[in-house]
Amino acid sequence: MKKPTYAQLARMDKSYLWHPFTQMESWEKEEILIIERGRGNYLIDVKGRRYLDGVSSLWTNVHGHGKRYIDAAIKGQLGRIAHSTFLGLSHPGAIVLSKMLLDIVPPGLERVFYSDNGATAVEIAIKMALQYWHNIGEPQRYLFVSLDNAYHGDTIGSVSVGGIGLFHSTYKPLLFETVKAPSPYCYRCGLGLEYPSCGLACARKVGDILASNEGKVAGLVIEPMIQAAGGFILSPPGYLKAIEEITKRHGVLLIADEVATGFGRTGRMFACEHEHVSPDIMTAAKGISGGYLPVAATFTTGRVYDAFLGGYGEKKTFYHGHTYTANPLGVAACIANLELFRKERVIRRLRPKIRLLKEGLGRIAALEHVGEVRQIGMMTGIELVRDRATKEPYPFEQRTGARVCFETRKHGIFIRPLDDVVVLMPPLSITERQLSYLLKSVEGAIRAVTEQR
Ligand SMILES: *Cc1c(COP(=O)(O)O)cnc(C)c1O
Repeated sequence: MKKPTYAQLARMDKSYLWHPFTQMESWEKEEILIIERGRGNYLIDVKGRRYLDGVSSLWTNVHGHGKRYIDAAIKGQLGRIAHSTFLGLSHPGAIVLSKMLLDIVPPGLERVFYSDNGATAVEIAIKMALQYWHNIGEPQRYLFVSLDNAYHGDTIGSVSVGGIGLFHSTYKPLLFETVKAPSPYCYRCGLGLEYPSCGLACARKVGDILASNEGKVAGLVIEPMIQAAGGFILSPPGYLKAIEEITKRHGVLLIADEVATGFGRTGRMFACEHEHVSPDIMTAAKGISGGYLPVAATFTTGRVYDAFLGGYGEKKTFYHGHTYTANPLGVAACIANLELFRKERVIRRLRPKIRLLKEGLGRIAALEHVGEVRQIGMMTGIELVRDRATKEPYPFEQRTGARVCFETRKHGIFIRPLDDVVVLMPPLSITERQLSYLLKSVEGAIRAVTEQR
């Protein structure tokens, strides 16, 4: 078949496709980018134009695109086998990877259950937590506590523990019952308080919720340190640790969703490390394969795992699995990803980049329509506001964040916002020069969109 032109591809895309999280009516009118290749930290479209991948292809890419070492690992695996089932069979890659992962996750986690995306990893965590209590004879513990502004994926179970009205409210009739705790969103504190004089009142509220539902709560699900899709909401120092202590005190399972934060994004391998937190269950996906292939994992402690052991007649088995669980090609990418972290000392080499990012963000924070800049490691959210003094947001339909991101395309950058929070989350392999360019361009784009008279 002859290679289709950009115009042909764009026409077919707009005629046949339905893109995720996309208002297709406006998509059909836009000039869309069609990416054909990737090189290092750049995406290259069918017209040959290069775009710095400022959000790591939706928070997944770690070492850049076309990384030889990962490419070779996948090709090597392809020469052996592309897929064999994990239901009733095993394979070397998955076994080796499990040990590599357990060596780096927070202490206490001793088992890996594979799946293929973040939402399923969370579904698995929820079902495991519920069944854990069932299996040890406490079936009355069925409630889950989660946070306002939480995002754990788009399947019904994951949406049930989500807390983003815009994404989730439509599906309410389908969702299971949860109890929502306040978001640790200091810039717009729901309790009307200020850190640190608040004494972490939002965490204490979680304690109140657990106390008033004593013996009924199975688990608490949380994005450690930063609520990502909810708007890059950073929890204040001590919050996560306080949550860990509260869940321990009430004997509730702590489920840490590290799907966005895992694999170096926050400057540590996992966000839980920032406050030395050891969850009972932890999920990972996005960066686990270096951003190459869909792989996810749910980790549990030995205590949770042991509750599922028993004779067949006891029916304690975890009846859950996905057809492509532990796909060997994906697993090969994961192993290569972790080897690169070690070989290239990725975490240590992030330090100067994180410092540079912080400096550049200082200038952006001073702009007239920037309400707050939130950064942890290589994750940055820039919240735009119509009025800095009153924190008044822009009208939703003006799509101010989206317009800023569109503006950066002129500078050869691809980024994607969360409403009016401009997100920067480049691959960990971004160079200091590229990072400076990204910051300068974003600063210019924010000024061009928000300071035009
Ligand atoms: C992206 C995300 C998910 C969902 O992952 P998918 O692979 O898109 O299903 C879950 N939890 C968090 C914290 C995420 O950021």
